[in-house]
Amino acid sequence: MTPNDLIHQTAEIIASSRHVVALTGAGMSVESGIPPFRGKGGLWEKFDPMEVAHIQSFMRNPERVWRLLISEMKDILTEARPNPAHYGLARLESLGKLKTVITQNVDGLHQLAGSRDVIEFHGNFAWLWCLDCGDRARTVDIDVNPGRLPPRCGCGGIYRPDCVFFGESIPMQALDRSQMAASSCDLMLVIGTSAVVQPAAFMPLIARQSGAVVIEINPEPTPLTGTTSKLLVQGKAGSAVQQITDEVERIMAARRQP
Ligand code: NAD
Repeated sequence: MTPNDLIHQTAEIIASSRHVVALTGAGMSVESGIPPFRGKGGLWEKFDPMEVAHIQSFMRNPERVWRLLISEMKDILTEARPNPAHYGLARLESLGKLKTVITQNVDGLHQLAGSRDVIEFHGNFAWLWCLDCGDRARTVDIDVNPGRLPPRCGCGGIYRPDCVFFGESIPMQALDRSQMAASSCDLMLVIGTSAVVQPAAFMPLIARQSGAVVIEINPEPTPLTGTTSKLLVQGKAGSAVQQITDEVERIMAARRQP
């Protein structure tokens, strides 16, 4: 099948679906300038994940973790803007097809693009909270000065980002809502995720076992490819989602013709 056939087939399936859910990962935001963890150009080429993204590393040496990873991500995340893939999903929501986005990303770009029902599976980097008093603060409002890390609250406690580190549990509400969304959809779009981080990677399996069709959009195959997913639209999220959404609009308009 040619790439155009895959785009068209995916659009036909979306147009015929009643309840679409998207699961997105770091690849969704690569075209917004945010590097993924795995793969070419990924952060794991520079850092050891267990050293910088594990909660035990953070508790042992918060200054180091802030310096190595989080302070680097902060600049990228606060400057990044949605790309055509984020806008395409927001358009699918306003067409009444896409009901929920489950995102593993911590960048807030789905909401910025206009998506309304977004489950942040791994939290959000836009907020920090104090380990001592629990005070919440917006990341942009905190002076993350490389000379004075970790950033501290007025009470003297250390701020941590409101995202989920390796070794931490998924917030109960996000997990419950995601499982519900996965089990009630008739189509799940899996976009820009390597599908190896659990329990997020389990959501497409729940969808499949509940009878939904699973379609991936990714430049590379994943462990879901050829097993859980029916199709792999092999390419970058930006152009693929934009083309698919244009095609869905065209098909829906044609179906409305008398
Ligand atoms: P990952 O880093 O493990 O994998 C990235 C995936 O995206 C790969 O499969 C890769 O082939 C694909 N990809 C690369 N460029 C793409 C593009 N232009 N379009 C579509 N796909 C593309 O990502 P993951 O599976 O989400 O797991 C990593 C974890 O890291 C997540 O849990 C997430 O919380 C976190 N993370 C988030 C951000 C962010 O918020 N933007 C960035 C890096 C990591």
